[in-house]
Amino acid sequence: MPVLVMKFGGTSVATLDRIKRAAKRVGVEVAKGYDVIVIVSAMSGETNKLVGFVNETSPLFDAREYDAVVSSGENVTAGLMALTLQEMDVPARSWQGWQVPVETTSAHSSARIEAIPPGNILAKFAEGMKVAVVAGFQGVSPEGRITTLGRGGSDTTAVAFAAAFEAERCDIYTDVDGIYTTDPRIADKARKLDKIAFEEMLELASLGAKVLQTRSVELAMRYKVKLRVLSSFEEMDDAAGTLVCDEEEIVESKAVNGVAYSRDEAKMTLISVADRPGIAAAIFGPLSDAGVNVDMIVQNISEEGRTDMTFSCPVDQVARAEKAMADAKASGDINFHDLVADTDVAKVSIVGIGMRSHAGVAAKMFSTLRDENINIKVITTSEIKVSVLIDRKYMELAVQSLHDAFALEKAG
Ligand code: ADP
Ligand code: ASP
Ligand code: MG
Repeated sequence: MPVLVMKFGGTSVATLDRIKRAAKRVGVEVAKGYDVIVIVSAMSGETNKLVGFVNETSPLFDAREYDAVVSSGENVTAGLMALTLQEMDVPARSWQGWQVPVETTSAHSSARIEAIPPGNILAKFAEGMKVAVVAGFQGVSPEGRITTLGRGGSDTTAVAFAAAFEAERCDIYTDVDGIYTTDPRIADKARKLDKIAFEEMLELASLGAKVLQTRSVELAMRYKVKLRVLSSFEEMDDAAGTLVCDEEEIVESKAVNGVAYSRDEAKMTLISVADRPGIAAAIFGPLSDAGVNVDMIVQNISEEGRTDMTFSCPVDQVARAEKAMADAKASGDINFHDLVADTDVAKVSIVGIGMRSHAGVAAKMFSTLRDENINIKVITTSEIKVSVLIDRKYMELAVQSLHDAFALEKAG
C-alpha cells in the first residue's frame, strides 16, 4: 500500500471536535487506499503551558527533565486521535516516539533525528492496521532518555517519517491555507504562494517564519519529500495549499519573495574586551557550551587594543548568556567592562533566490526603513537574504512596509 504522512499542528487538534474533523480527513485518505501515518502536535497552548511550568520550577533547567515534561502534550493528542479513529471503525493505534523508535541525538531540547527504523509500524500495517498515530516532536536518545526536537518539531517528525517510509506525500495541516509571502497575521496584503523553492523556505523558516520548522525543510530537500502545507479548517481539495519544491519548478523570478520576522530576540554587547587572537573563541565557545544560540555577530573597530563585541540570541536565553559570560570572566578566560542586554529587539529579513542576480536590494530595504524612521541596530546578509535587528515595537511596521516596497502582493 502507498503510504501518506499527514501532520496536524496544535490548532488542528485544539479540541475534541477539531480532532474529530482531522480524523475525518484521515478517514478519507484511508478510503482512497493509503496506509496513513498521522503525526500530531500537542493541543494548541499546551506546550507553552508545560514550558512555563518548567521555567517556573527551575529557570536554568536540566534539559533532560525539560524534555520529559514538554514532550507529554503530544502523548495526549496521539492517544485521543487513535481513539477517535477507532470510534470511526478505522483500525488505528498510537505510538510515542520511543516506541517506534524515533532515534535521536542526545542534544536535549533540540535533538536531531538519526534514524526511524520502520519495522514495527510496517508489521502492524501488514496485520491490517490502517493508521499509525505518532506523537510528534519527541524521540529517544542513545542513553534511552526522552528527547524533543525544538519548538515546531512535529513538522520535522512528519518529514522524517515521510522519508523513512518513502511516503507518496507529506501533508502539513495547519491554521493557514498555505505559505504566504509573509505572515498573513501581520500583513493583510500577504499573498499565498502555490509553490515555493526549498532554498527560500529554508531561509524563511530559519529567519523565523514558523509555518515550517527549519529542519523539516532541510530533510524534505535532502530526501526529496513531496511537502505540502494546507489548512485543516477548509474543505478537502487535492490542489489546495502550497507545495515546497525544487527551484526549477518555480516560474516567479522576483528579487525578493518573502519577508520573515523573529519577534523575541535580544542584543547583547560585551563592552571593552581585549582585542587579541582567540577572543572570539573565548566568548562564543562558552556561550555555545551553555546552549545559547548566537545568531548575528558584530565586532567593533578596536581602540587601544580593546573592542566591543555584539551578538544576538533568543530573548529567553539571555540569563544563560549572562551566566556563561560571568563565569568566563570569573575564571579569567575573558575580561570585559560590562555586558549590556537589549531585550526589546526583533529581527526582520527579506528573502529571495532572485537576489543572486539583482543589485540594490539591500539598499532598497535600508531606504524603506529610513522612510519609516526605523533605526537599524545590526545588519547581516547572505546570498539570498538580508536581515536587520530593530526595536521590537517597529516590527509589524517594518514587515508591512518592506512587503509594500518589494510589491510582494503582486505575482512576479
Ligand atoms: P501549527 O501549530 O499548525 O504547527 P504554527 O503556529 O507553528 O502552526 O505555524 C502556522 C503559523 O505560521 C500561521 O498561523 C502564521 O501565523 C505563521 N506564519 C509565519 N510566517 C508565515 C508565512 N510566510 N506563511 C504562512 N504562515 C506563516
Ligand atoms: N508542540 C510542539 C511545539 O509547540 C511541537 C509542534 O507543535 O510542532 O513546539
Ligand atoms: Mg508549528
